Amino acid sequence: MPKVVSRSAVSSSTDAKPTASAAAALRVYYCICGEFILVIEKSLAALPRRRTDSAYIIRCRENETGKAVVFKLNASPCAAPVLVERSGVYERQYGFSCPRCNLLVGYQSTPWPVKSGPYLYILKGALTHAQGQVPKDALERLEANQEEPNSAT
Ligand SMILES: [Zn+2]
Repeated sequence: MPKVVSRSAVSSSTDAKPTASAAAALRVYYCICGEFILVIEKSLAALPRRRTDSAYIIRCRENETGKAVVFKLNASPCAAPVLVERSGVYERQYGFSCPRCNLLVGYQSTPWPVKSGPYLYILKGALTHAQGQVPKDALERLEANQEEPNSAT
């Protein structure tokens, strides 16, 4: 039986101090209205972006480019998918919107529910890291798409 030296146990306990444990690294993102939308293991800023619309790309499944990103999305599926045309190529987007204010926050190219396809896209400027704070790129987004969602009156 190997002798367990208590000294090593002491030193290992200091080594084991969690510098970046999974729980501590979780990031939370909110809609501009303050609703909690996304909890994710890494910062949106660390994610790759789409060339077409600069949306953040969240990998839902492990594939040849890497491991799946751990996240949970708190958003409602939109009523119907949207067909988007980009230089002759059509893409069907299944959107997700904020459950409180209905603002579109992201989409995927496969039918709902979330994570049914390889990627989920989070719209640039849709989410903010700090509750009640407008993301830096939100105005850019409004300029790019002048159609502001009006509350039904
Ligand atoms: Zn909202």
